[in-house]
Amino acid sequence: MPTTSRVLDGRAVAAEVRADVATEVRAMRAGGAQAPCLAVVLVGQNPASVVYVGSKVRACREAGFEALEHRLPASATQAQVLGLVHELSRAREVDGILVQMPLPGSIDARAVSAIIEAIDPAKDVDGFHPVNVGRLWSGAEGFVPCTPLGILELLDREKVPIEGKDAVIIGRSDIVGKPMAALLLRRHATVTVCHSRTTDLPRVAARADILVAAIGRPAFVTRDFIKPGATVIDVGVNQVTSESEARGLFGEDAARLQAVRAKGYTLVGDVHPLQAREIAGAVTPVPGGVGPLTVAMLLRNTLAAARARRNG
Ligand code: NAP
Repeated sequence: MPTTSRVLDGRAVAAEVRADVATEVRAMRAGGAQAPCLAVVLVGQNPASVVYVGSKVRACREAGFEALEHRLPASATQAQVLGLVHELSRAREVDGILVQMPLPGSIDARAVSAIIEAIDPAKDVDGFHPVNVGRLWSGAEGFVPCTPLGILELLDREKVPIEGKDAVIIGRSDIVGKPMAALLLRRHATVTVCHSRTTDLPRVAARADILVAAIGRPAFVTRDFIKPGATVIDVGVNQVTSESEARGLFGEDAARLQAVRAKGYTLVGDVHPLQAREIAGAVTPVPGGVGPLTVAMLLRNTLAAARARRNG
């Protein structure tokens, strides 16, 4: 692969954050306080969600947290999920609550909002409760969604300048695009948020010093979207199942081709890896970029929740 751009190693930064959190948890326990406790709610068996929940719970335990897993069947009613979340919000021993999204299709958008609003904002370590969303946009202290928070951590640790820079975000989801915009705005970037109705997306994107792609479409961002030297953050996680497609995206990368043959797929983000590396100044890889940072920030948010509850 003809690489010219710097690869931003999310996995390494995440490992540092996780080690810092584990050190703080040890100190907390040595001081006689209880370890932070995260309750994770998984409804149904969405394969990606099962994997995500597994890695979050594992990361919690590695950091010395207590992790409580609550699994409900896909047939669970809105009332059952709400009942559980209310119970966790009241439970003294629980510091953080995470309801893994997406919820099954039988739970409609209104019900999803009600479930999120049932989380005590002081335990809302995903930062999805309207109180925390409002705090983020008004510049107040509160929980910030883990994926954009992780991206900001990476930009800071990699010393990517933000103030005064043009930042373009493709995607306006509540969990990535919108909170990313709020965070970058707070840090004095000039922020543009694009979506499926944006006219002439490549032209808008190519203004960006910092380009964040959170779309959910494999290798959508090609070289014409990227300003030479830009920092490109690839949030997307998509499967590529054909060897010829993998070759088009990764060239003769033997590990990628072998993964398609052995596992039936390899992962690609929303950014075309070969083309981005030829033109960008820095890029995040998929996997090993944004994903590990999301988990690390969940730990950090849960630690903050625990600390605030112990001291409050
Ligand atoms: P989402 O809720 O599906 O939102 C996708 C956004 O992309 C929407 O705003 C949509 O526009 C926009 N979009 C779709 N097609 C487009 C097009 N052709 N041109 C321009 N914009 C387009 O997605 P999400 O939850 O933010 O996730 C995005 C990706 O990130 C997914 O691959 C997901 O798996 C991944 N993800 C990864 C992590 C991680 O930790 N690595 C965390 C979260 C998400 P409209 O609003 O107009 O429909």
